[in-house]
Amino acid sequence: MEKLSNPQVTIETIKKYDFAFQKKFGQNFLIDSHVLDKIIVAAGVTKDDVVLEIGPGFGTMTQYLAEAAREVIAVEIDKTLIPILQDTLKDYDNITLINEDILKVDIAALVQEKNQGRPIKVVANLPYYITTPIIMGLFESHVPLDNITVMVQKEVASRMQAGPGTKDYGALSLAVQFYAEPYIVANVPPNCFIPRPNVGSAVIRLTRWENPPIQVKNEKFMFSLIRASFNQRRKTLQNSLVNGGVGVTKEQVVEALLKMELSETIRGEALTLSQFAQLADLLMDA
Ligand code: SAM
Repeated sequence: MEKLSNPQVTIETIKKYDFAFQKKFGQNFLIDSHVLDKIIVAAGVTKDDVVLEIGPGFGTMTQYLAEAAREVIAVEIDKTLIPILQDTLKDYDNITLINEDILKVDIAALVQEKNQGRPIKVVANLPYYITTPIIMGLFESHVPLDNITVMVQKEVASRMQAGPGTKDYGALSLAVQFYAEPYIVANVPPNCFIPRPNVGSAVIRLTRWENPPIQVKNEKFMFSLIRASFNQRRKTLQNSLVNGGVGVTKEQVVEALLKMELSETIRGEALTLSQFAQLADLLMDA
């Protein structure tokens, strides 16, 4: 059977099932074989791998994953897509299809069941409206994984990869970089999808650190400092923290900044991840 990455096959499938795209589910299906090849190569999918795909849609990427991986678990929220997927994926015997909201799936239990707790890969053309909860959920719940290789909105990819002092740098950059090393694989224009999204897209690979790049006594406290710093990003770090509801006084912040040899008027956007960790450790002990 011809693959769905051939736009004609996708168009025929839409007609055959009289499929109505649902905006609320972020449905923009890929129709570009070069982009799909790039994603599979960037993720480094081999016959040893169990891959979790979030939102298979018609199964366009699932067909590529099933050929490259040992096993694919595909989680799709839209129940009208299930009979279509059973048809488009009927030639493959290594796919488990789950009709569920990914945010409600116990992924760690799934990895335990399907791969005996060994690391999996996550590959997806994500529904953009829940990019951050999906990615942070995977990291924070400590699901064993090698890498997450996903299509996201271009601006979101830039934010994940940004470093201190740039306009895109923020809480998302620090959260992602605490858990993984980001690498932008490709920019993808709207004409690679049906229907065309009204934003640019990019494929980003997040390779989970084997050993964390920084040590911090209390991760939660560090992230509450980071969130408070960027909630009011035009203010000094000192003011953002004192007014940010994180339970620190002006004197404590001034003393910590002095110990770190940083200016009293520095803004949060100038601090690296390891400086936030150091600050959190100093304020914990204050
Ligand atoms: N993988 C397909 C492709 O590349 O052509 C479709 C990608 S489309 C951008 C996003 C997919 O995620 C849609 O199929 C949508 O129905 C599904 N989706 C949206 N929200 C979801 C959720 N909470 N859990 C699981 N799937 C979801």
